[in-house]
Amino acid sequence: MEKIDFVIIGAGVVGMQTALTLINNGVAPEDIAIFEQNPFPGEHSSSRNSGVLHAGLYYPQNSLKQKLCLDGNRMWRTQASELGIEIKKIGKYVVATNIQEIEELNELYNFSIKKSVPEISWVGTEEIDCLKEVINVEKAFLSKNTGIIDCAEMIKKLSEYLYKKGVNFLENQKVDLIYENKKLKIKCNKETFRANTVINTAGLYAVDLRKSIGLEDIENNYVKGNYLKLNKKYFNDYLIYPLPEKSLKGLGIHTVVQGDGSVLFGPNTEDVFDVNYQMNSKIIAEIYYGISKIFKNINIEDLSLAYSGIRSKIIKDNKLYSDFLIQSPVENYIEALGIDSPGLTASPAIASYICSIAMRSST
Ligand SMILES: Cc1cc2nc3c(=O)[nH]c(=O)nc-3n(C[C@H](O)[C@H](O)[C@H](O)COP(=O)(O)OP(=O)(O)OC[C@H]3O[C@@H](n4cnc5c(N)ncnc54)[C@H](O)[C@@H]3O)c2cc1C
Repeated sequence: MEKIDFVIIGAGVVGMQTALTLINNGVAPEDIAIFEQNPFPGEHSSSRNSGVLHAGLYYPQNSLKQKLCLDGNRMWRTQASELGIEIKKIGKYVVATNIQEIEELNELYNFSIKKSVPEISWVGTEEIDCLKEVINVEKAFLSKNTGIIDCAEMIKKLSEYLYKKGVNFLENQKVDLIYENKKLKIKCNKETFRANTVINTAGLYAVDLRKSIGLEDIENNYVKGNYLKLNKKYFNDYLIYPLPEKSLKGLGIHTVVQGDGSVLFGPNTEDVFDVNYQMNSKIIAEIYYGISKIFKNINIEDLSLAYSGIRSKIIKDNKLYSDFLIQSPVENYIEALGIDSPGLTASPAIASYICSIAMRSST
C-alpha cells in the first residue's frame, strides 16, 4: 500500500490553496496528492459564488471568519500578482434604501470601524444624488477594499501552477476514508493509500467524509443561492449591496460583476437537503422582488436564470455553527468545515491555518 505524505481531499480553492501553502512552507510538491472526485478542479462552490473579495464587514469580532477574511483579502493581492490572476478592487456601496434602514446601516458601519475594517467611509450627498439615478438610497457607505476575482481564471491559474510545480492531481477519484486500528486509510476507486497527514477540504461533502470515520457530531446545513443574469448593459464599475439578512444566511440580493463585465443579481437563500444545482424559473419572480426594492430601471423581462451555488453551513450541538471550523479531531487528520462565505476571500488564510496545524502535529 503506497504511502503519501500529505493527502488533500477536494480540489476547490481551499484544497488548492492548502497545497500552495504547504509548498511555500518547504513541503516537496511530489509529496502532496490532491484527490478530486470530478474531472476538473473547482466545479462546486469555488466556481458557484459571487466572486467577491470581501472586506470583513459582517462577521463577529474575534471569529475565525473575521480574522481569516481580513488576512485572506490581503494575502490574495500579493498572491494574485504572483500567479497572474487579476483582482479588481472595485469597491462596494452598502445602502439603506429607506429611512427605516438607516439605524441598521449606522450599526453596520460602526461595527466595521470597531473591527478596524480598512477603507470604509460614508458617502456624501452629491454622490448619493448620483446613486439615486440607479438605486433607491437614503444613506450609504463605501467599502473600497472590496474587490472581485474571476473564479474561472483563478481556478485555472492556481491548478496550472500546482501541476507545473509537480503536485499529484488525482481527478475522477472519489475518496472514502477508513479508520482502522487507529490508522487512517484513503480508499479511492480500487486502490487504498496511507498518508502521514490527511486534509479534508471536501466542501459540501466534508461532513459526509468525516462520518465515514465515525465522527458524527456535526451535520450539514445547505443553503442554496440562485443568480439571475441581467440581459442588458448596467453599471459594473462598483458593487451595490443592501443590508444583510439578519440571520447572515445571505448578504441580500446584490449585483455581481463577472470577468467579462456582465452583471448578475443574487444570490437568494433557499434551504435545501442535497447538492442539486438545477434552477426553477419560478425563482425569477422571487429574486426580482429583492432587486426591485433597490435597483431602478430593471424589468423582469431583462432577467434570465444564470447559475446556483450551495452554501456549506454546519450544525453543531443542535444549532447553526456560523463560524469556520478548522480542527484536527483525530491524529494526522485535519478538516475544514462550514467553509461558506467568505471562504473564497479567506482561502489563503484558511490554508495557512490548516498548515500551521499540520506542521505542529508533524513535529
Ligand atoms: C452562493 C454562494 C456565494 C458565495 N459568494 C462568495 C463571495 O462572494 N466571496 C467569498 O469570499 N466567498 C463566497 N462564497 C463562499 C465560497 O465560494 C466558498 O467558501 C469556497 O468556494 C469553498 O471552497 P472549498 O474548496 O472549501 O469547497 P469546494 O469549492 O466545494 O471544493 C470542494 C471540492 O471537494 C471535492 N470533493 C468532495 N468530496 C470529495 C471526495 N469524497 N473525494 C474527492 N473529492 C471530493 C468536490 O468535488 C470539490 O471540488 C459563496 C458561496 C456560495 C455558495
